[in-house]
Amino acid sequence: MLLTLTTTHQPATDLGYLLRKNPARPQSFGLSFGKAHIFYPEANHERCTVALLVEVDPVGLVRNRRGPSGEGGALEQYVNDRPYAASSFLSVAIADVFGTALAGNSKERPDLVDAPMPFHVTFSALPCRGGEQFLRKLFEPLGYQIAATRLPLDARFPDWGESAYYRVELDVVLPLKQLLSHLYVLVPVLDNDKHYWVTDDEVKKLMRHGEGWLAAHPEREAIARRYLKHQRSLFDDALAQLADENAPDPDFVAETHAQEEEAIEKNISLNEQRLGAVVAALKGSNATRVLDLGCGEGRLLQLLLKEKQFAEIIGMDVSHRALEIAKDRLHFDRMPSMQKERLRLMHGSLIYRDQRLAGFDAAAVVEVIEHLDPPRLAAFERVLFECARPSTIVVTTPNSEYNVKWETLPAGKFRHRDHRFEWSRAEFQAWANRVATTSGYKARFLPVGPEDSTVGSPTQMAIFTK
Ligand code: SAH
Repeated sequence: MLLTLTTTHQPATDLGYLLRKNPARPQSFGLSFGKAHIFYPEANHERCTVALLVEVDPVGLVRNRRGPSGEGGALEQYVNDRPYAASSFLSVAIADVFGTALAGNSKERPDLVDAPMPFHVTFSALPCRGGEQFLRKLFEPLGYQIAATRLPLDARFPDWGESAYYRVELDVVLPLKQLLSHLYVLVPVLDNDKHYWVTDDEVKKLMRHGEGWLAAHPEREAIARRYLKHQRSLFDDALAQLADENAPDPDFVAETHAQEEEAIEKNISLNEQRLGAVVAALKGSNATRVLDLGCGEGRLLQLLLKEKQFAEIIGMDVSHRALEIAKDRLHFDRMPSMQKERLRLMHGSLIYRDQRLAGFDAAAVVEVIEHLDPPRLAAFERVLFECARPSTIVVTTPNSEYNVKWETLPAGKFRHRDHRFEWSRAEFQAWANRVATTSGYKARFLPVGPEDSTVGSPTQMAIFTK
């Protein structure tokens, strides 16, 4: 398969410096599935074209079990389109031989790394599953001009009709690293296949190479789904992370949370009652190793430290600033070493699977879930209830029915401007019961704060046990 990139940026031979490949010297690289060759059909002051020719060895693929997994039987393993069509093999070759440029590094031309340059890109055969329309939907929102010619299945037998392959030319003005990241992600998406098994790592790659453009792409869902080979749990994670990129600054959320919510709830110092109820639930569970997830400024951590029962206490939050404030409040740096050894603060997000959260007795998630919008809430459920799986989980969230009782809260408004939802008791219980049933927990519910006979208490708490 052949890919060419041409630039008319001047001096055009800067392309050689950005790619770290000398235009005067053709080079070949061994890859696990074949070979990549780089050469420059033209390289002068006005125009420079680099060609990446990827040779795939179909017999080698069979030996290494990397061949097509289709249903074409034994023959398809040996005779297939992989040597000719642009596919995930091309992405691997780009990452391998143009890795420095893809990562946005350049020793010789650092000032050009972020500079938009005109590029003309050609693919000799690009499989477009979903047709030219899908090709356009992928590239046009990123600013590309597209010329695509559909290739016949076999030029000698026109009756056989058209193939799924296109000769494609793209024109765009972009920094090289952006162009390479678009190609890296979108070529396998168009092919709708990958030559290797995809795992969690692939979500990370998608996030890394999609940074700055994928979250806002109108086709982000289709891109994530195809890129992750239609594996539901992986693309749910990816979509949640993309939603996260569009989310407000976590530090802002953490900082204003305390002020705004407290201002509304202050009359009854609800916060103290809530934290008291959570500590009681954790103590009652006999836990010794506990997590405070979305610990904010560390109010619960402060109470947990006072209880000898808790030998290991972890506070995690997505906001660096909240963690800094927590450290100050707890006088972490001046803490006696016995205390200090019991406490760890860590930065992390509840929507990413995280090995560090495994093996705990209990987790508290206090006034956090209402900050997660629906795709992130689903990821959070998997992270906590399916992966981390502590024996006890305590979750609190506002009871929206109680909002009519707050004098300072206008009707129909949430208690904090970053809240994505506030649930009634029925809604919270339906969510908690569903999550409990699917993940093998039992849920109990307790009111927190003064209880009103019609609207209930201001905070609602669920205690999940295995
Ligand atoms: N539990 C604390 C803070 C509640 S405010 C208390 O009761 O005082 C909500 C907190 O959740 C904020 O600190 C915010 O930064 C954190 N948060 C929001 N989304 C998160 C995520 N995806 N992962 C971890 N923390 C998150």
